Amino acid sequence: MNRKSKRTASSIRRKPTPLAYRNNYSSTSHVNSLHVKTEGGYSFEHGTHPLVNDAKNRALRDYETKTKARFDNIETVLKSIIGQQLRPDFKHWANNELFAQLGVTLDDNVWELNSNSNSQRYFQDLFTKIVFAQFMRMSKDFFVNDPLQGQVQQEARQVFRDSGIHAIGIAPCADGRLAHFVSYILRLPYSLARRKAHAGALFDISESVRNWVFIEHSRFREQKPNPADEPTRYLKMAVYHFSKADPSHQGCAAHGSDDHKAAEAALTKLKDFRQAIENRFGCGSTVETILIGVNTDDDSLKVHVPNENGKVCLERYVETSELYSQTKNMSVDDAKFIIENAIDSCNINRHSTKPRDGIKRLLSWFIANNFSQIEYVNNYEQGCYDDIGHAERFIGIGSGFEEVQLRNLSYYSFLDTIEEGVNDVDVGIKIFKGLNIKRGLPIPIIIRCDYDGRVPGSKERAKKKASRLEKAVHNRYKELSTCGLVQTMATLRDYTGCQPVEKLA
Ligand SMILES: [Zn+2]
Repeated sequence: MNRKSKRTASSIRRKPTPLAYRNNYSSTSHVNSLHVKTEGGYSFEHGTHPLVNDAKNRALRDYETKTKARFDNIETVLKSIIGQQLRPDFKHWANNELFAQLGVTLDDNVWELNSNSNSQRYFQDLFTKIVFAQFMRMSKDFFVNDPLQGQVQQEARQVFRDSGIHAIGIAPCADGRLAHFVSYILRLPYSLARRKAHAGALFDISESVRNWVFIEHSRFREQKPNPADEPTRYLKMAVYHFSKADPSHQGCAAHGSDDHKAAEAALTKLKDFRQAIENRFGCGSTVETILIGVNTDDDSLKVHVPNENGKVCLERYVETSELYSQTKNMSVDDAKFIIENAIDSCNINRHSTKPRDGIKRLLSWFIANNFSQIEYVNNYEQGCYDDIGHAERFIGIGSGFEEVQLRNLSYYSFLDTIEEGVNDVDVGIKIFKGLNIKRGLPIPIIIRCDYDGRVPGSKERAKKKASRLEKAVHNRYKELSTCGLVQTMATLRDYTGCQPVEKLA
C-alpha cells in the first residue's frame, strides 16, 4: 500500500477545495473495469479487486468531494465577500456572490453593515449562518435526491434475511472519523441500519432494549419486517476505532487512545445488551452481536468473529486489509472462498467453534463491501487519509442525522438531554477548541429532534425538546456562547418518511 508520510494532528488542516474542481480519478481505478450488473442501485464495474464496485466508488467520491467543498470553502469565500463592504450595493451583491460561489443565500438583513461590521464577531456570525445553510441544503438533497442510494434496500434486505437477521442496530463511536461507517465503510443503505453514536461506542443499553422491544412488537402485530415466528434475530453491532499510523494519539479520545480499552468497552456493552434481553425476555429472544474495529487511517476493519453460540472474543478476528491483499488477483468465487475460510479458521485456530452459517455469510458480505472502501481510500487518498485526526465541520447532537454519512463531516452524539450526554458533548467541544476556536472560528452546533408525524403532539414535543437542548448547550458553555464562539441551530425532522430537516424558528 502506497502510504503518505504520517502527519501529526496539528498539521492537519481542512483545505479549501477549488470550486470548479474536476473529479480527479486515479487512473488505476479504471484498470480492469468491467460493466457486469446492477447492484444496490449502481451499475457494478469491478475495480482492481474482483469484489470491488468501482462505479459505486466513483459516485461516492463525487458526493464526498462536492459536499465537503461546500463547507470547506466557506471561510475563504466569506472573507473575500466581506472585503467588498465598500460596494454601494453590498447587501444584495454579497448574497448573489455567496450563491454563485457556495450555492446558498442568507437573509438580506444579516449582511447589514453597522459599527461591528469590521469585527471578528460579524465574520463569526455569518460563518455559522452559512454552515447552517449548507447543512439545510445537504439535508434536502440527501432525503429528496438520495445521492448515496441509501433508500434502495433490496439487496441488503435479502442478504440480512438469508443470514437470519431481521433488523440491525449500529452503535459506533461519536468520532467524526466513523460518520461514514454505514454508507461507505460497510456500504449499507442508511435507511436499513439504525445508527446511534456515542463517545467510545458506549451505547445506552436501556434505550437499545426499548428499541428492540419496538421492533419485535412490529413483527408480532404487523409481520414487519418479517413474522415473529420466523427464527431470525436482531443484530446489534458496536464499532470502536484505532489508528495504526499514530496509535497513541489518533485512537479513540473517549478511551485515551488505548485500543484495547476501546475494544473491551464496546464488547462489554454488547455482552450487557445481550444479557439484558435474555434476562428480561428469556433465552428464546436472544440477539446476535458483532464487534468491529475500524482503522481510521484507511477504513480497513478488524472483524471479530462470533463462535457458534454467538460469543465474541477480542482475540478472534480477521483483518480486511490482509484479506483484500490476499484475494486481489483471484476470481470472484476464489476470493469469496478465501474470505469464508478465513472466518472459520480464525476461530478454529483459537480453539473455538465456527460461527453460524448465516453469520459467516453476513460477515463475508461485510468484508467484501469493505474491500470497496479499502480501494476507495487507495485510489483517492493514496491508501491513508490526510486528515488521520479530527477534521469535523460541525457538531450534531440529538437524534437522527441520517444525512450525515461522510467521514469527518460532523462529530455526532445521540442524546436525549445534555445532562445524560454531557461527556459526549464535552469531548466534542474539546475537539472543536482545537479545530475551530484556535483559528478564530466559532463552533457550529446543530441540534436535532426527530418526531413521528403519525403521532399526535409528537412534533410539538420535539420542538420543546429541541429548544430545551439548545438552551442547555448555551448554559453549559456560557463563556464560549456569550462571545459567539458557540452557535446553535435547532432542527426537527419527521423520521417516518424521506422528508428533509426543518429549521426551528
Ligand atoms: Zn472514539
